[in-house]
Amino acid sequence: MNNCIFCQIVTRKIPSEILYENEHVISILDINPIHFGHALVFPKKHCRDFLDLPEESYKHILQAANIVTKALVKNLNLEGYNLFSNNGSIAGQSVFHFHLHITPRYSDDNIRFVLRLKEYPDGEMKRYGEILRHYINQQSEMK
Ligand code: 5GP
Ligand code: ZN
Repeated sequence: MNNCIFCQIVTRKIPSEILYENEHVISILDINPIHFGHALVFPKKHCRDFLDLPEESYKHILQAANIVTKALVKNLNLEGYNLFSNNGSIAGQSVFHFHLHITPRYSDDNIRFVLRLKEYPDGEMKRYGEILRHYINQQSEMK
């Protein structure tokens, strides 16, 4: 994946401010932060999105996220933090190498996800539950 920005960061072809790395994962400062200290965590091996991640990488990603989040919490006087991941361009993904964002939050930052919340019509929540549970149960039976 030569033209992937994050792969090039891993191989040092593109410079970055590295916070943490090990054999499996790397964490860097986001070049255009929501707040200073906004960090990214991603696997060294190229993966397009969450569903493309190999299962063995889950723990490495969350361990690195934990290490970096602690550093943010202990050093940046933040009042809260968000961990999130955009998957697919419609969801805001602009770099197609899976990554977690970790960003500090402050009470006066006025950042809000603009949500138009829906209510399920009668019976629809149950119907969605049944469709999804059915698929999940089928998948686990196939393992
Ligand atoms: P996405 O939009 O895919 O959820 O997040 C990609 C993030 O990568 C953006 O927040 C963007 O600022 C960051 N980013 C893009 N290119 C670079 C880069 O070359 N270096 C660093 N450090 N961050 C980058
Ligand atoms: Zn990549």
